Amino acid sequence: MTEQQFGKQQRRRFEPGEVIFRQGEPGEHAYIIERGEVEISYSRAEGDVLLANLGEGEIFGEMALIDNDVRSATAKAAVPTEVFEVDLELFQRHVQTAEPILSCVIQALLDRFRAFQQRVSSADLDVDALARLSSEPLSDARHQSPVHQQALTELKFEHELKRALSPDGREVQCVYQPMVSLQDGRPLGLEALVRWYHPELGTLAPDSFLPLAARSGLMRELDINSLQKACEFLHKIDTETNWTSLFMAVNLSGDHLSDDRIVMAVKQALETHHLEPHRLKLEVTESELVREPERAREILLELKALGVNLALDDFGTGYSSLSYLNRFPIDQLKIDRTFIKTLTTSEQSQDIVRAILSLASAFGQHTVAEGIEHPDQVARLLEMGCDVGQGYWFSRPLPPEALIRWLEDRT
Ligand code: C2E
Ligand code: MG
Ligand code: MG
Repeated sequence: MTEQQFGKQQRRRFEPGEVIFRQGEPGEHAYIIERGEVEISYSRAEGDVLLANLGEGEIFGEMALIDNDVRSATAKAAVPTEVFEVDLELFQRHVQTAEPILSCVIQALLDRFRAFQQRVSSADLDVDALARLSSEPLSDARHQSPVHQQALTELKFEHELKRALSPDGREVQCVYQPMVSLQDGRPLGLEALVRWYHPELGTLAPDSFLPLAARSGLMRELDINSLQKACEFLHKIDTETNWTSLFMAVNLSGDHLSDDRIVMAVKQALETHHLEPHRLKLEVTESELVREPERAREILLELKALGVNLALDDFGTGYSSLSYLNRFPIDQLKIDRTFIKTLTTSEQSQDIVRAILSLASAFGQHTVAEGIEHPDQVARLLEMGCDVGQGYWFSRPLPPEALIRWLEDRT
């Protein structure tokens, strides 16, 4: 065998009959055949079984690299052969950075293949025996690794979320939190906040499933589900209570800012529930505007043309830039709750809130303070000139029936 460096890969040359690696040895490389032919064989007590004859461009020896197991077969040059080595580190980095479910599928295939090979070694190799073997289930004992379990849990969770968001699913619902006048606590509007009432895990808050929805491409369905439920609920409030001019705020993920199907979905939701467009407020976050600002601007303008209002959520935490405020058709800034939390104790928070308020007034935008938990915060905000707020001090987010009672108590 001769070797030479070839870039970062090693090129190796083998004579006919020379062993490239042997069954049972630890594996450090996979190989790609550049020239020649390689026999892959499996050794049993009764003698060797030829598994494959590989030629130019084919890869072999990759299995041991995925899970650090020993070689499950022997590779031998059949004719003068040249191969490239693919090194262990590079190979494993690719497998480890693949989607967990992809690594999991690779591992499952590998385990099944190895288990099958194991059985072949103890069976008579007539055709019937092989056919019997192939139809018998293989043990999945090794599929208990934490990574494997995590991938399966995620897959199951994703499947459940998809089902929950289907038209006949009832597990994903909204709770509603009032936005009130800071002067007198009078309700002005509501924000719809999604909850997943999971049959086994109980009530799940958005933080525990929005990332999964985003990874699985389910954000569109999720937001449209919230939008429809919120519009339906606002109509119910109009018909069942004396509060007939509240607005409804719905959060939109950044996915909609590159896909104008949201415009039609909003139009339909408003029409279906007989709502005037100005009563709907769509909340987006700053960080999502900057992903594709031009496209986002076009879509926001289309939404604005329907007559709905637009708010920038969690304002002050993202990539705030003055230029955004007049480039995008934004009606309202929601001051992030991190500034409200420390409003009465931190000079810096007060300065930031003051700056946001004057910025908003310069651009003719309204402001809402998020996360108000204490009456001192209300007093300070009023002094500063902010007169709409939202937070546990007024009400936690409530399920529909409880919210209707909350409104009736204030009639
Ligand atoms: P957000 O839109 O900024 O909503 C406000 C969050 O602050 C809500 O958390 C609310 O329950 C919480 N909150 C309200 N008042 C207080 C308070 O006084 N103190 C504290 N500590 N928290 C308060 P939630 O319901 O867990 O929602 C988290 C985020 O999930 C939302 O933040 C929003 O970005 C996202 N989200 C919720 N529903 C949807 C939805 O239907 N679609 C999309 N795309 N995102 C949603
Ligand atoms: Mg919001
Ligand atoms: Mg917010």
